[in-house]
Amino acid sequence: MNTQVIYDYIDRHKDDLIGLLQECIRSKPVNPLYATQHGYNEAACEKIIMEKLETLGVELYSFDVELDKLEEYRDMPGFITGYTDQIDFRNRPNIVAKLPGTDPEHGRSVLLIGHCDVVAADDTELWKHHPFAAEVEDGVLYGRGCVDELGGLVSQLIAIEAIIRTDSRPKGDIWFSSVVCEESGGTGVLAVADWLKKRGIRIDAGIMGEPTDLDISLLCRNITWGDMKIIGRTGHLEEWQPHWSEGGPVDAIKKARYIMDQIDRLNEEWSSRPDKNHPLEKLPCQVKVAMINGGHHRSSYPAVCELSFNIQILPHETNALGLGPGVRKEFEDFIARVSAADPWLSGHPPIIDWVCEADCSEVPKDHPFVKVFEKNAGTTRRESRLIGSGFHTDTGWLMRVPEIPVVNYGPGNPALAHSTNERCRVEDVVTCCKTVALTCLEWCNMSV
Ligand SMILES: [Zn+2]
Repeated sequence: MNTQVIYDYIDRHKDDLIGLLQECIRSKPVNPLYATQHGYNEAACEKIIMEKLETLGVELYSFDVELDKLEEYRDMPGFITGYTDQIDFRNRPNIVAKLPGTDPEHGRSVLLIGHCDVVAADDTELWKHHPFAAEVEDGVLYGRGCVDELGGLVSQLIAIEAIIRTDSRPKGDIWFSSVVCEESGGTGVLAVADWLKKRGIRIDAGIMGEPTDLDISLLCRNITWGDMKIIGRTGHLEEWQPHWSEGGPVDAIKKARYIMDQIDRLNEEWSSRPDKNHPLEKLPCQVKVAMINGGHHRSSYPAVCELSFNIQILPHETNALGLGPGVRKEFEDFIARVSAADPWLSGHPPIIDWVCEADCSEVPKDHPFVKVFEKNAGTTRRESRLIGSGFHTDTGWLMRVPEIPVVNYGPGNPALAHSTNERCRVEDVVTCCKTVALTCLEWCNMSV
């Protein structure tokens, strides 16, 4: 393998790489769930990617997500039913492409995959540059999706181009996929996972382009959402009132505050508990309250206060489907215990409703693909660290359905995803492209 040839090709075509990324951002591929303006959709971006793939002469497949064909996955984590039922999947094609290897029987295969949809950017006036103008200033590209995760996706595409144009095609097959609908549930990836499985396609390893700041992420956690309803009793807030045991009011917001204080205590305990920490994760698993909704009138005691929360769960805490019933039970028992200690709540315990659960995944550190990846990432930049992603990614579907071990690797700071002034260093996109190309080449030339 001639590393320098690949480097040179990518350096020479740096403007094409960034140009393609800009074009994708400018197509405004906002997921329809968040699109507030007509015409924001993924189809335009998929068209750009499709046209690029057509110039490469690879095998091409394109298909819409058909929900009724995915029924068998309904009970699996991440199968979001609540709103996909309301979303139209027509004219939102997934793309799959294959660059056949020169000797696929004897070379390992790889899948490069990413989502083309992005979240909305309705806070346009707060951006330094318009979120869909994709402008570069001082070597930094600004734009919605440059981090999450068009930068990773387009790097993968140009990595394949570099392999083709430098006549470096390896023994094993290189697959590529650009999927829709990640930002509202992951149904796009599920459809690709199912497509691969039903065709009996075996792929030995995969790279998903979620932002990792050029580290290699082997892990994503299960993310579980829940709501908790805390019930009080209303009454006039400015008036003298009897004690609640004599029929007086109970301030539901105050009770919610008590519950939140207890959750703080639980989090403190979890932060030092070994089973709530993973050596690759920066953060311990916590219960984070993200939304509060309480009260109904400025002169009345609040009758109800609702807390919406997020619990992160590590792979070792989950069952075979990646679900965390044990953690949910632990939390329910905890709330029951602290409620029992409160005279009002003991008789009126909070009601917990589990909203949805996104699965987790993990590739072992000593997997041969990880070794190859680490080595090649180290040659293009500082050594890439092995990390875990704090946020959820769609790797679980690929691990569970067609059983492909998939790591995440992409340019950009993940903390900037979905944010105002989402931005990414141009140089990092180039580095990502080189690392992906070299990793694919070494891996796909390895004997099966
Ligand atoms: Zn993403």
